[in-house]
Amino acid sequence: MQEDYYQVLGVDRNAPAEEIKKAYRGMALKYHPDRNPNNKEAEQIFKRAAEAYDVLSDPEKRRRYDLYGAEGLKGTETRGYNTFEDIFEAFGDIFGGGSIFEDFFGGGRGRGRAQRRGASLKCDIDVDFRDIATGVEKKIELTRKEVCEVCRGTGAREGTSPVMCPHCRGRGEVQQSQGFFTLRTTCPKCRGDGKIIESPCIRCGGSGRYPKKSVISIQIPAGVEDGTRLRLTGQGEPGDNGAPSGDLYCDIHVKPHPIFKRQGDDVLCEVPITFAQAALGCTVDVPTLTGTIIQVKIPRGTQNNETIPIRGEGFPNLYGYGKGNLLIQVVVEVPTKMTARQEELLREFAELEKKNVSPQQKKFFEKMKNFFI
Ligand SMILES: [Zn+2]
Ligand SMILES: [Zn+2]
Repeated sequence: MQEDYYQVLGVDRNAPAEEIKKAYRGMALKYHPDRNPNNKEAEQIFKRAAEAYDVLSDPEKRRRYDLYGAEGLKGTETRGYNTFEDIFEAFGDIFGGGSIFEDFFGGGRGRGRAQRRGASLKCDIDVDFRDIATGVEKKIELTRKEVCEVCRGTGAREGTSPVMCPHCRGRGEVQQSQGFFTLRTTCPKCRGDGKIIESPCIRCGGSGRYPKKSVISIQIPAGVEDGTRLRLTGQGEPGDNGAPSGDLYCDIHVKPHPIFKRQGDDVLCEVPITFAQAALGCTVDVPTLTGTIIQVKIPRGTQNNETIPIRGEGFPNLYGYGKGNLLIQVVVEVPTKMTARQEELLREFAELEKKNVSPQQKKFFEKMKNFFI
């Protein structure tokens, strides 16, 4: 035999709604399973209290219950609160923000209405190679759905307001008990919003959102690499019912440079010199990332592909660990066209070389000898 719902909540048969609410709140706080782990008895009391409240808080159900007892409730929807989330979602509105109930359990939970986070957006930004050395501000034009200015996001025509969804009574979801199971589904009528719009806003057609072009300024940090994805928190589309906005993801594309190549925080620059300059040493003009020209001394006897580091002329480290270097990579060019005089001198030079083999060649011939013996 089922216990009387009034007895469960410990209230009088003619107790006003306010008193029933108060009694239930006290029991929910006291017997909630989260606060009474592994306590079957508390759980039973908690469930019965929730069931009792479900009936007695609803004027129609209470009337039927008063007239016909439990029999009178057949065919009505039972909410069957099993988790704390259910309770809060169902009663959060009554207890109100900042109530004891909310404070007690930490608050900030859903209120039954779908709190969909705003959609995140993606954009691509082309950045000049050299701008990465200093960082740069970029402006991009973006069309994103923003809160409709006419209805302020409610979706309702001017002068009207959304009304509570009659199907789910504002909860945004419907529950059905089938034996031991409680099925919870998003309300098909309001799609989880808990509200429906009877006459939609003319501007946005009821969505509460309207596409708007915006210019967004994005600070590209110095030292960022090609392919980096920057996240701009909250710059996506707005969320529903006070949910946070989505984010804006920006993919950085660094345009290649005709003479510079990036290697980590270093920047590589190939500098062609003639074979005579390599042998005798020289001074060459080299551009830097900052746009200045510096003079670099190439020492006598520099080999092909040798690099000469210029300290601190690379990219700033993205995480603030100093700066990379400019690496001058020497490319020794072999002459293809020569004047008669140049060739004459070169042949003379070659004649002399036979008698004076250079150190690298000497080493090579020695290694080769060992190889064949
Ligand atoms: Zn609107
Ligand atoms: Zn609904």
